[in-house]
Amino acid sequence: MAGGEKRRLFLEKPQQWRCPFDGAKVIESDASVDLFWMLPINGDIEYWGQVYSFMEEVTVKANVFGDRSGLTVDLNISASATAPCARCLSMAPLEIFRDFRYFYKSLSITESGDDKDKDEDLIFVQSIDEEVDISDQVWESLVVSLPEKVLCSAECCGICQFCGHDRNKGDCGCSGEGVDPRFEVLAGQEQIVGENVPGKGGNQRGSSKK
Ligand SMILES: [Zn+2]
Ligand SMILES: [Zn+2]
Repeated sequence: MAGGEKRRLFLEKPQQWRCPFDGAKVIESDASVDLFWMLPINGDIEYWGQVYSFMEEVTVKANVFGDRSGLTVDLNISASATAPCARCLSMAPLEIFRDFRYFYKSLSITESGDDKDKDEDLIFVQSIDEEVDISDQVWESLVVSLPEKVLCSAECCGICQFCGHDRNKGDCGCSGEGVDPRFEVLAGQEQIVGENVPGKGGNQRGSSKK
């Protein structure tokens, strides 16, 4: 990629994102209504302490049904991104494809006012009998779909914790002496995310070699 241009970091929903639909139309209709949006995202999202880079758009499919008492929205979001591999730190591709369900009610329909706190997927809007914009929920769905750990491949060998060599590119021949403290930190992080490294029970630095 040509350098120079600074990538945008999205801390919240991109401003131009809008996913409106006509709630009145859904309420009048006996059938469910299918909706589709392509939301541009050219920038990064920071989550789980790492950066996910997006270059295209988020594809949103929705199916809406309901009546005056409330609308149900079944969402499917898909997107492509890249994020650093948890083992070797090279950029790894990532496909997001997830389903979500949200419920929308009009603020005026809060007779049983306590279900407001009960269900986090229940969204109160001014009125479901007019335009309803679900882009906040699309953004939320995208962010919670970001995996905590991304791998460039299931077989990724990671980097050598002694010399930092990318072990996917061959053996570095390290004997296991003289640990660089920077890589000890990396090794520790690997344990925090709970990775199962085959044949490695704990952090055995003091090699038993005599
Ligand atoms: Zn890797
Ligand atoms: Zn090494």
